[in-house]
Amino acid sequence: MRGSWAFRRLISRKNLVWRYHDGFPHLFASVHPLNTTISPAQPAEQPVDAFASTRFVLVEPSHPGNVGAAARALKTMGFSRLVVVAPKIPFVTREPEAIAMASGADDVLASAQVVETLADALSGVHWSIALTARTREYGPPQMAPRPAVAKACEQGRGGGAIALVFGNERVGLSNADVERCSAIAHIPANPAYSSLNLAQAVQVLAYELRLALLDRPETAPVAAAESTIASAPSDEIEGMYAHLEQALVALDFLDPANPKKLMSRLRRLFSRSGLEHEEVNILRGIAKHILLRVKR
Ligand code: SAH
Repeated sequence: MRGSWAFRRLISRKNLVWRYHDGFPHLFASVHPLNTTISPAQPAEQPVDAFASTRFVLVEPSHPGNVGAAARALKTMGFSRLVVVAPKIPFVTREPEAIAMASGADDVLASAQVVETLADALSGVHWSIALTARTREYGPPQMAPRPAVAKACEQGRGGGAIALVFGNERVGLSNADVERCSAIAHIPANPAYSSLNLAQAVQVLAYELRLALLDRPETAPVAAAESTIASAPSDEIEGMYAHLEQALVALDFLDPANPKKLMSRLRRLFSRSGLEHEEVNILRGIAKHILLRVKR
């Protein structure tokens, strides 16, 4: 997988250890604490404090200065949760350039979580926005940043954890990364030159999300018609896709040697609907019964 070499270099420094927790391997810092675990999302029943819990995820950033500047962008807008996926420089949050660019947001930088994959970063997240400088043929529905953050706020009010996902400075987000998210947002910049610096894109979205959150305080009563059920968390949805894919292969509907874009199209279809927990369970139930029947 793209970028995992960097993380392997990180763990090879012998200051991280694998430990099993909840049946899954997690990396823990053993000597110098680097935050490599994602604290669980709150149960999806009560409104969450979106300023404290929203994850700003940087996927494989190359430049320490951008990571520091992103930390500063978050803090100026009242956010604090920075997650870095497989950074090119393993201990990027301790690089002098990152610390200098963070300026007074060195606390946000120091508490940034460093994880190996986007799946780790999105664990427990119910609604995520992929920020892309280019349009994509496949992937979840495309929205302008303002409606995208408005929808994120609704999810927060329904008890769902939210995340904003940004790509690498040179290549942006991969299609697979984009397809893991609930929506795509593009900052409508100058069409002749629309690629913003990574930290500046973080700043724009943090500002938009701040305005949206301040406009609809968590404490305001939610009208019955407005109440939102949070989407199913990312990990549940990914588990469902894997299960469904297995069932479609067993049915000979999907040829693993020539999968074409079937799973991408199905992802697109389901992401338009905003799957809830119960709906994911129904789809898994269907996949399970297909597999049972086909094996007979
Ligand atoms: N050359 C890359 C752009 C990388 S810019 C590409 O073509 O994809 C680094 C990151 O900043 C992007 O992955 C995206 O998350 C964010 N970004 C930059 N410009 C943006 C824009 N106009 N809209 C949304 N996100 C943008």
